[in-house]
Amino acid sequence: MKIDLSQPTRGGITEPKIKSEEILILLDDDFNSSNVCIVTGAASGIGRATAVAAAANNLTTVGLDLNEEEGKRTQQMAKEKGGRMVFLKTDLTRDDEIEGAVQEAAKLGYIKFLVNIAGFQHIDSIENFPMEKYDLMQRIMLRAPFFLSKLCIPHMKKGPSGTGVIGNMASIHAHICTVNKPVYNITKFGLRALSQSISAEGNGKIRSFTVSTGFVKTPLVLNQIPSQAEQRSISQEEVVHDIMMGKSRVKDMMAPIETANLFMFGFSRYARYLVGGDLLFDGGIVLTY
Ligand code: NAD
Repeated sequence: MKIDLSQPTRGGITEPKIKSEEILILLDDDFNSSNVCIVTGAASGIGRATAVAAAANNLTTVGLDLNEEEGKRTQQMAKEKGGRMVFLKTDLTRDDEIEGAVQEAAKLGYIKFLVNIAGFQHIDSIENFPMEKYDLMQRIMLRAPFFLSKLCIPHMKKGPSGTGVIGNMASIHAHICTVNKPVYNITKFGLRALSQSISAEGNGKIRSFTVSTGFVKTPLVLNQIPSQAEQRSISQEEVVHDIMMGKSRVKDMMAPIETANLFMFGFSRYARYLVGGDLLFDGGIVLTY
């Protein structure tokens, strides 16, 4: 999904730049350049911020995405932060491309971390939901994370410490179901099951976790604002304040780097008891009333 750069602000919200001082840098023996971190969706939004944060934390980062031009921009951003990222154009609907990407990543070091972030939204009721969209969402947002996990776990087991961590980008929609997002809800609930299943089989050596946020300032969200305003006959500012942030106690929308930092924490030694759990950082949407 591309944002119209001639109009980067929607409803008072602009996609923020990633500043070095906002990146959570952690001291961890596993955060070194022999270890590889694969990040999907690395050409935009949360995936981009996570790839930049992983590279800044000294991991050899491999970013996967369909969008080559923006993926290369992320690679450049990682370099500017002093890190190393290799971008591999990969269509996550294609098993052969996923397999090829993991093989390439393994040549760069030990695959120790995987973050499944790529995804998209389609808004329709169950009765109107196009089945080809169902299949595409299922394929990119649930099957690809499963297949990547299946391919990366043997590499993690083979590494010097036999350990690895897989982070999956869920959402408040992995906890609550809102109208007209049935397949998004299904895939996000599914990612929690995937993280718990990986952790159950991982015997404390391979662990997995999910990150669940509310709305984050990315093209996925910014691009929804004008159509939501039109559909509801309200201003773009009202869409942001009343609809998107309406149930959040924190009214300032999260920045992508704040989400990326949660993955860095979840990967680190500080999170060794995070085994199948979910990092719910949603401004109180799910747990307060
Ligand atoms: P985004 O649109 O900015 O980025 C998504 C990326 O996924 C894009 O770069 C796109 O090219 C890539 N992608 C899509 N299809 C692909 C495919 N077939 N192969 C490879 N790459 C593909 O979106 P974002 O807001 O950064 O969202 C990233 C993830 O975070 C999604 O899973 C989304 O559900 C989740 N999430 C987002 C928010 C939010 O408010 N932005 C909140 C909670 C969860």
